[in-house]
Amino acid sequence: MSRFHIDEIKYVSTRDIEKKELISSAEAIRRGLAPDGGLYMPVSLPHFGIAELSMLSKLGYAERAAFVLKRYLTDYDEDELLSMAKAAYSAEKFGGADKKGGANPTPLRRLSSRGTVMELWHGPTSAFKDMALQLMPRLLSAALEKTGVKGDACILVATSGDTGKAALEGYKDVDRTKIMVFYPAEGVSAVQKLQMVTQEGKNVCVAGVDGNFDDAQTGVKRIFRDPDVAKALEEKGLFFSSANSINWGRLAPQIVYYFSAYCDMASENIIKLGDEIDITVPTGNFGNIFAAYIAAESGLPIRKLVCASNTNKVLTDFINDGVYDRRREFYTTISPSMDILISSNLERLLYMLCGPAETTEYMKALSEEGVYKISPKLHKTLQRRFAGYFADEDACREAIKETYEKKHYLCDPHTAVALSCVERYRRENPGETLKMLVVSTASPYKFAGSVLEAITGDMAKDELTAASELSALTGTKPPKQLVGLESREVRFPGVISPENMADEVIKFAGR
Ligand SMILES: *Cc1c(COP(=O)(O)O)cnc(C)c1O
Repeated sequence: MSRFHIDEIKYVSTRDIEKKELISSAEAIRRGLAPDGGLYMPVSLPHFGIAELSMLSKLGYAERAAFVLKRYLTDYDEDELLSMAKAAYSAEKFGGADKKGGANPTPLRRLSSRGTVMELWHGPTSAFKDMALQLMPRLLSAALEKTGVKGDACILVATSGDTGKAALEGYKDVDRTKIMVFYPAEGVSAVQKLQMVTQEGKNVCVAGVDGNFDDAQTGVKRIFRDPDVAKALEEKGLFFSSANSINWGRLAPQIVYYFSAYCDMASENIIKLGDEIDITVPTGNFGNIFAAYIAAESGLPIRKLVCASNTNKVLTDFINDGVYDRRREFYTTISPSMDILISSNLERLLYMLCGPAETTEYMKALSEEGVYKISPKLHKTLQRRFAGYFADEDACREAIKETYEKKHYLCDPHTAVALSCVERYRRENPGETLKMLVVSTASPYKFAGSVLEAITGDMAKDELTAASELSALTGTKPPKQLVGLESREVRFPGVISPENMADEVIKFAGR
């Protein structure tokens, strides 16, 4: 592998107009958010040519991950990255096996001659956040060593459901980290709650909060600012850190699977190495699709990125009209992980397209007025690469039903939003002939109730019943990690009041 040259890459905040502070990738991962409120970005990007893609095609997933990541995280060793990737994406965690006998965490399903689905949900929580959250804690743990930080990271998370579980699975038993998750006792599904209260691992703790998600979130924010808690933690050799989705350590692992999918498409003769492809991504916080953009800018032959939204179509409007306007009604949909009005990672795209000064202005307008309009020049640049489409609830249900009936493929509502947008994109661009890669972000069994209802029109009495009915109807099996949850040992039965959250954290720190 060493025959390829590696340039050192530094990181800078998206709001650092004079590029005053350039830091290593480990430092960027340790910090998460920049002190000026910006997000960290590489100052320059590596370039991958056909020779690299051809070499990558012959490797297993963990080896591909180490090779690709080494080009962005240049202060990590490739061997170190390889052992992290092997542990993160093991067959035990992701099931399946690739041609090399390693795990293939991101299998492709060919739906038609032109459309191929990449499934990113074979990990411990059956949704795509595992792809980042299985690796990120290991990157953080190594970053603490590299930057000479003393003490261990204590991660606090308030969750409305899925992120908490994915973070727990990711940080479980990772050196120099502890994780505590608060969930709203009234605000998560029965399955989500069972997943969290039965969590295994020596360094984890979970507590229900008597209230809704906002109560849990506000409580966590208060603890982060509480000097007494910080002092108590310091005495135990701990400091606070967050599992935030804007950390570069969560983004970098997502770049890898675009390279991997491209190589697999070539190996499966769907394309020839060097052919351009289009990609459609069901989008919320703009992290996943931004990783595809980084891959494209680093030389992966990608032409269009189709940004697929649900009824909360702030991004569709942004791409089409050049105006980002969050002052709108918020809808709760059957693709809840995309119910977002502020897509944080969009800041990274703006930074790349128009630089830190203009980006800082747009972000200021967004926080002060809730809206910004980009310059005509920037709008044109944006549209060269991105197309924005959305699917409302009916279109989403119809895509689930049609994909199942016509293609015999069962997909979850987030993936269905993407498939519906692909249909529209094709209808509006009839001359298009490029192959389309469609990103699938959750197992249909994670949203069994909505999927069953879309196909049969009937509602099941609860999620667990829906899963068994869906299985009986389609002859498919739920992922093993979603089966038998009811009979697992409950380790964290407690529900506390929001006022007691700080005490719980201090108690946990002493354990
Ligand atoms: C988080 C999530 C998304 C949105 O991904 P972003 O990176 O936030 O755009 C889509 N689908 C599922 C199932 C998710 O969990």
